[in-house]
Amino acid sequence: SDHAIIIGASHAGAQLATALRQQGWGGAITLIGDEPSPPYQRPPLSKEYLAGKRDAEHLLIRPAELYAKHDIQLRTGCRVIAIDRAAREVELGSGERLGYSKLGLCTGARVRPIEVPGAGLEGVCYLRTRADVERIRQRVTPGGKAVIVGGGYIGLETAASLRQLGMQVWVLEMMGRVLARVTAPPVSDFYRRYHEQQGVNLELNCQVQAFEGGARVERVQCLDGRCFDADLVVVGIGVIPNQELASETGLEVANGVVVDACGQTSDPDIVALGDCCQQPNPYAAAPIRLESVPSAMEQARCAAATLCGHPTPNTSLPWFWSDQYDLKLQIAGLNSHYDQVVLRGDPDSASFVAWYLKQGKLLAADCINRPKEFMVAKQLIGRGGEVDAEQLADEQVAPKALLA
Ligand code: FAD
Repeated sequence: SDHAIIIGASHAGAQLATALRQQGWGGAITLIGDEPSPPYQRPPLSKEYLAGKRDAEHLLIRPAELYAKHDIQLRTGCRVIAIDRAAREVELGSGERLGYSKLGLCTGARVRPIEVPGAGLEGVCYLRTRADVERIRQRVTPGGKAVIVGGGYIGLETAASLRQLGMQVWVLEMMGRVLARVTAPPVSDFYRRYHEQQGVNLELNCQVQAFEGGARVERVQCLDGRCFDADLVVVGIGVIPNQELASETGLEVANGVVVDACGQTSDPDIVALGDCCQQPNPYAAAPIRLESVPSAMEQARCAAATLCGHPTPNTSLPWFWSDQYDLKLQIAGLNSHYDQVVLRGDPDSASFVAWYLKQGKLLAADCINRPKEFMVAKQLIGRGGEVDAEQLADEQVAPKALLA
């Protein structure tokens, strides 16, 4: 009989389960996740939740009762350890086997561990799950010293939240600027200065050599001799896709489980979506693994249709956001391979846009406290035509007029 099994109960898995019902899947649905909680939102973990401005109940993606209401069997605290494609079964940690007719891989990603001496000391934390946040919180004390390794989105958001909790904060970034992989230098510069104004100590070109301490971490030693006292360390140096289940059962993997535009893996009965997969995207030159909630949601909509027998390509424009202090960054598009950056507004006003162009066409925009331009950017990028860089830069031209 028809049974859709979904492995991984977070943004991608929860959305796939409900989208399947919405799109008319009549068979059973089992949503299996190894975390103890029903599916919850990750973005607030480094933001409002860590800062203590949101409670656990308001993290849930859907009310816990909703799954039963839609006849979705939610199994939390339950890990899938193998997929047997010949038998069409998944095997759980308990040894139980469940038969499927369709399978959704929504296993996401796990944190990249830092491989230096002392990395296992107590107090060296990561930030991916609710449990991780509880671990961090136990070490938060006003005036205490937090050292954050990695000046990417997670590191900077964590820095902002820990400052708001009254900690002294150091951010150690290996590259010469923060957000180096994702934004242009003027945006990196802006974030560096803003964090410094908020009292964060940013250490650039700084590579961790070892963590030192006795029972718990006490110091962070860097390659060039810099050394920092620490009551708490949070490492945010990226993630690794959870693709082992897929590769062990013979599905094609690269940087993530390989899927086509409709979410299908190399097995027609199996889709993969979210952080664990790499997919072709009309806005990227090559298949890409996106780590973003909006992307997981779109992929879920398309993968559900695909499993229901109506293969639907994901053609959505990638977008992303990051909140730090009172800064709301919204990013439209993918900026890789840009050849020109145009600013609109003065970064010192904490309200500006960085437009990324390639050969006169708009690829992407970083909008800092500029919601109107963000809406405009999405439309302009979607259109794909040439844009007028001077107009983009000109504050006298209203955002809407940029679409004319
Ligand atoms: P995941 O969220 O990684 O979930 C996968 C789930 O599957 C996990 O619960 C995992 O434990 C489980 N699982 C894995 N293997 C198995 C197995 N074998 N059996 C059972 N269960 C399994 N994105 C944004 O767009 N905006 C933001 O502002 C933003 N902020 C973020 C802040 C933080 C702190 C983090 C960690 C992420 C943030 N992201 C943000 C990224 C976003 O959260 C991810 O893109 C999103 O969570 C991906 O969802 P997913 O379901 O694909 O994977």
